[in-house]
Amino acid sequence: MPTTQIRVAIVGAGPAGIYAADILSKSDLEVEVDLFERLPAPYGLVRYGVAPDHPRIKGIITALYKVLQRGDIRLIGNVDFGTDLTLEDMRQYYDAVIFSTGAIRDADLNIPGIDLDGSYGAADFVSWFDGHPDVPRTWPLEAQHVAVLGVGNVALDVARILAKHVEDLMPTEIPANVAEGLAKSPVTDVHVFGRRGPAQVKFTPLELRELGHVPDVDIVVYPEDFDFDEGSEEAIRSSNQTKQVVKTLTDWTLRDPSELTASRRIHLHFLHKPHEVLGADGKVVGLRTERTELTGDGNVRGTDQFEDFEIQAVYRAVGYFGSPLPDVPFDDGAGVIPNDGGRVLGADGEHIPGLYTTGWIKRGPVGLIGHTKSDAAETIRHLVEDVTSGFEDGTLTPAPERDPNAIIERLENQGVPYTTWQGWELLDAYERSLGEEQGRERVKVVPREEMTEISRGVTARA
Ligand SMILES: Cc1cc2nc3c(=O)[nH]c(=O)nc-3n(C[C@H](O)[C@H](O)[C@H](O)COP(=O)(O)OP(=O)(O)OC[C@H]3O[C@@H](n4cnc5c(N)ncnc54)[C@H](O)[C@@H]3O)c2cc1C
Repeated sequence: MPTTQIRVAIVGAGPAGIYAADILSKSDLEVEVDLFERLPAPYGLVRYGVAPDHPRIKGIITALYKVLQRGDIRLIGNVDFGTDLTLEDMRQYYDAVIFSTGAIRDADLNIPGIDLDGSYGAADFVSWFDGHPDVPRTWPLEAQHVAVLGVGNVALDVARILAKHVEDLMPTEIPANVAEGLAKSPVTDVHVFGRRGPAQVKFTPLELRELGHVPDVDIVVYPEDFDFDEGSEEAIRSSNQTKQVVKTLTDWTLRDPSELTASRRIHLHFLHKPHEVLGADGKVVGLRTERTELTGDGNVRGTDQFEDFEIQAVYRAVGYFGSPLPDVPFDDGAGVIPNDGGRVLGADGEHIPGLYTTGWIKRGPVGLIGHTKSDAAETIRHLVEDVTSGFEDGTLTPAPERDPNAIIERLENQGVPYTTWQGWELLDAYERSLGEEQGRERVKVVPREEMTEISRGVTARA
């Protein structure tokens, strides 16, 4: 066991970074943990990804709050790794650095017309409706008919938020600019498209069933889109989740059309492969899909039969993708930091001493918040193993600057308006008090400068 106190920086205060900090600080190592975050608020996609009308999931923040509130992990917010601090800087102050920077941008979908005006990435829209400070305050909600490409839970979130009447979102924490934008939306029909069949969708049962309970929004499914091959039957047999999803979808096919009386609709289309986004004068005016058929193993092939849908906006919800960090290895194909169980690998395939990764940037943007915990446990187990031996055999060089205040002095000298845990508590209280006035739990503050000023005690509420 090393006799020195180990200094570890974690970059990214989403669930992965917070779980890693928690597990590390409870390990046998004598350790000081600094948790860096580029935003003035912690919690990553739990705050800026999970839909505002999912308060139960947002409630995971309570557990993350308890970890940071203990006081043994130092949060340093509003500091961007790569801009405010480089890897070389980090090496001066920390023996090990863990990257848990997640994924925030949309994966690409290469079909003609995807760059037309009116074609959006789901991740950008999610950032907007969840009040992310780094996206524009307004969103062009001008379309009456909208397409959402993709059949995962993010597609459901996007379709639901687009279709829901704003009154039904008012009890949530949506920011004022989002409520204002959604209130003006002329949308009546949201069409969700999946390339494969109903047994291949990635919706989870609870999230799908929830769709059926949105006030004044009907779910429309099309019997001709329901086909099950041997691969589908096997998927239904082997996964309870698939079985429940297929049952919910099939039940919807059995309803009497006269029951569909809502003013807005979400249409779920399967076996429709997005082929081209159709445009006129540079703007989206339609979507052409190709009918697909199952090939026996749950996969599909095209049939050369095309169908055009009149839509004025398209959202691709085909997955998130990680972004590279300066001087840190990156796998461009997978959008992750190359690693072996969380140990960051260099171009030679060897572990770069002192560098680790966890969460979505480690294993790709799949999985629920809970998965980031087991993932963090693996990374921390390897870090603890390496540090224990590394200082002794010289594979790990101790950082030269060991005074915990040195990094703070440096940020101050650089004029970086960093925020702290106490600062987050101020912002948290501020948002709650804004909500209280309207009988809501919280109203989010969106502009970064305002968030920072509140956190740094420059702005307070009377
Ligand atoms: C739209 C959407 C809805 C979801 N809904 C659910 C749900 O209902 N239930 C569920 O269990 N899971 C849900 N998830 C999945 C869940 O959000 C992820 O599993 C989880 O957030 C991944 O955690 P992470 O810490 O790896 O990444 P993130 O949560 O993305 O956290 C990464 C953090 O790193 C910070 N960061 C990035 N770059 C830098 C930098 N250069 N310097 C400093 N900081 C940086 C970011 O600001 C962010 O705070 C959803 C995801 C999305 C996208």
